[in-house]
Amino acid sequence: MVRVAYVQLAGCCGCLVSLADTYERLLDILESIELVYCQTLMDEREIPECDVVIVEGAVCLNDEHMLEEVEELEEHADTIVALGACASTGNFMRFSRGNQQAAPTHEAFVPLTEVADVDYAVPGCPPAPEAIERFLTLLLEGKEELLEPFAKLAEGKTEYCGCDLMYHVVNKSMCTGCGTCAAACPTRGIEIVDGRPVVNESRCIKCGACFTQCPRTIWPGDEAIKEMIMGDE
Ligand code: SF4
Ligand code: SF4
Repeated sequence: MVRVAYVQLAGCCGCLVSLADTYERLLDILESIELVYCQTLMDEREIPECDVVIVEGAVCLNDEHMLEEVEELEEHADTIVALGACASTGNFMRFSRGNQQAAPTHEAFVPLTEVADVDYAVPGCPPAPEAIERFLTLLLEGKEELLEPFAKLAEGKTEYCGCDLMYHVVNKSMCTGCGTCAAACPTRGIEIVDGRPVVNESRCIKCGACFTQCPRTIWPGDEAIKEMIMGDE
């Protein structure tokens, strides 16, 4: 049984709501994991040893307790997942300038991917329930090769924009024109023209959803492709 902790940092909890919106699939997911920590659902004060920690929300650099929590989750979890745009890229939390009533000194927020060694990032504000379900299913089944786009996002190896499709899919002749990217784009910023995606940059909010949803981002690697074409020479 995979031991999973769910940690909420600075955010709106929308990612947890989206996770709950997977309805009956959530029951299947819960049956295959042991939930060991979740501030919303249980009275557990410390993050225990676990296989996976799922984190939503950005990190407040002015909040020592939050920084300690990040340290704690890094120490206790084997795999760290940044769920949603705040944890993955910072999202609107980047624009915070403090002065909120509850904590006026809290003015600097960064994504978890900038302060912790994150394994996978799931984009979206919040990520669509289907995207969360797909990601969790792949994770729980240990399909590492299919999780590569999420790992690239976590490592900052993409541009977080529609142009990722050009660099990693279209330019490598991997695009089949399926239209999944256009359907995944929350701002309707992608149009399929002549069987290929065309990105309207003025609409792109750099969420990364198109890249992780494209079924052709599973790139076998330049060496593997070369070998397929050239054989053993
Ligand atoms: S989802 Fe991928 S394969 Fe499908 S049209 Fe978009 S870029 Fe091409
Ligand atoms: S806004 Fe649309 S085009 Fe831009 S990264 Fe997100 S899904 Fe891709």
